[in-house]
Amino acid sequence: MSLLSLHRVTASYGASQALFGIDLEIAEGEAVAFMGRNGMGKTTTVRTICRMLPAAGTLVFDGHDLRRLPSHRAARLGIGLVPEGRRCFAGLSVAENLIAAARPGHWDMPRVTALFPRLGERRRQRAASLSGGEQQMLAIGRALMTNPRLLILDEATEGLAPLVRQEIWAAIARLRAETALSLLVIDKGLAEMRAACDRAVIVERGRTVWSGAMSALDRGVSEAYLGV
Ligand code: ATP
Repeated sequence: MSLLSLHRVTASYGASQALFGIDLEIAEGEAVAFMGRNGMGKTTTVRTICRMLPAAGTLVFDGHDLRRLPSHRAARLGIGLVPEGRRCFAGLSVAENLIAAARPGHWDMPRVTALFPRLGERRRQRAASLSGGEQQMLAIGRALMTNPRLLILDEATEGLAPLVRQEIWAAIARLRAETALSLLVIDKGLAEMRAACDRAVIVERGRTVWSGAMSALDRGVSEAYLGV
């Protein structure tokens, strides 16, 4: 059974329609790569899942109709978001940022700092003074501290140096091995997505145009929909 199920989802920014028919299924423990060129509707879909933007169509998470829930309730059901732009509380320390997000479950401060040792080393440092990569680790750590069942990573490696990107991908592989977390991953790194994800869903102009196993995403598909 699907943990998250979107069917024919539409959404608009005021008078401007951005989503015209998104279909997306994520099973428990599954990692799905959510792909498409710039401006095709990936972040907008994430906003509808997290209830930051009203949507029509079917949006069900763990049997709950998401359209009826405010965003804080969606988070409490177990949807953890690492938003584009890695937002943290800049004036709080690393430890305070993590504690502020905490809810009971597998992921606690020792486990998060074992996953990202640099966060442990910098626990007393203000978030504003961290490097971009460390802030990204903190954003992922904060989402994990909420103990979600679905973790959404929106461009988690964007703008980071190659070595830091590798660290983030390695952590994603480890957290998948450690828990039965489901993942929805948006990222420009096709090779890394292939390694990290089970399935891909591709959107174009606000519509789902392809979905299938990562192994079925061949050159024809990526040339047609991703321009690579
Ligand atoms: P990117 O990879 O560039 O982030 P994306 O696939 O995430 O792209 P979205 O950001 O979801 O795409 O954008 C989908 C459409 O919605 C685009 O036409 C975009 O211009 C529009 N859009 C996005 N955010 C807003 C907003 N806050 N107000 C109005 N229109 C928006």
